Amino acid sequence: MGVGGYPVGRAAQGELIEMELQSQKALVTGASRGIGAEIARELAAAGAEVALLARSLEGLESVAALIREAGGQARCYVADVADGASLEAAIAQAHKEMGRLDILVNNAGITRDRLLIQMKDDDWDQVIQVNLRSAFVACKAASKIMLRQKSGRIIQISSVIGVMGNAGQTNYAASKAGTIGLVKSLAKELASRSITVNAVAPGYVQTDMTGALSDKVKEQVLGQIPLGRLGTPSDIAPLVRFLSGPGSSYITGQVFHVDGGMVT
Ligand code: NDP
Repeated sequence: MGVGGYPVGRAAQGELIEMELQSQKALVTGASRGIGAEIARELAAAGAEVALLARSLEGLESVAALIREAGGQARCYVADVADGASLEAAIAQAHKEMGRLDILVNNAGITRDRLLIQMKDDDWDQVIQVNLRSAFVACKAASKIMLRQKSGRIIQISSVIGVMGNAGQTNYAASKAGTIGLVKSLAKELASRSITVNAVAPGYVQTDMTGALSDKVKEQVLGQIPLGRLGTPSDIAPLVRFLSGPGSSYITGQVFHVDGGMVT
């Protein structure tokens, strides 16, 4: 018997367990490493079939292999989210091959940090293109599918920086704040069809993106985190799984901070 339309699976030991996302079809951008890879693994572990999207097939294949080894289902799609046509085509292909699209996680993102007075036009444009315009393109493509389905979950990975700001990150902060405005507005547009749209705003998370920070900067960052440590991708993924599942059906247009207490 399913719960709220979500089926229940049977564990190997014969016990009944709820597979929160069984039969759900998800697409995660930036799934070849870091936070996106962990989100993809978490959704697959909860029973979803997951389309992994990024520019490097090698990275995607290694995440897909881990998912399959754990008994999950994964497909790989190579696309550059900065190229709207490439992103749209990959979403259409994934939809065609999976038959539905229930969950979209817009996670792919980049930084190009510089003080504003030194920032090149290209630093600004690239960050806005990858972090914000891609969210518009992916949300539009997914919304059309989800409106026909009369259900869906869109989860946008924003950032603590989009809320607090940070010297050297005007482009990144603007892109991440922009996604919050997009989420709040789109949530109102799609609510009547039971489609929810929420943002997750991580703090500092240990990935390739933050790996390049010097020890001095890391020490300064630690001083701003009440819980006293950097986050890990596995601090972020369980919330995305919850926002993708049946327990979050009355939550939309919200921004969830997962940052060790930085923003209160
Ligand atoms: P990583 O740099 O570790 O991974 C980024 C992912 O995005 C990779 O899978 C990369 O794959 C993909 N990607 C980058 N550019 C493109 C592109 N043009 N087209 C398709 N895929 C792309 O980053 P994180 O895991 O740290 O960050 C994930 C998200 O979380 C980002 O949106 C980031 O802004 C946000 N975030 C991260 C924080 C942190 O402290 N790490 C804090 C707050 C938010 P590939 O290179 O193969 O294309």
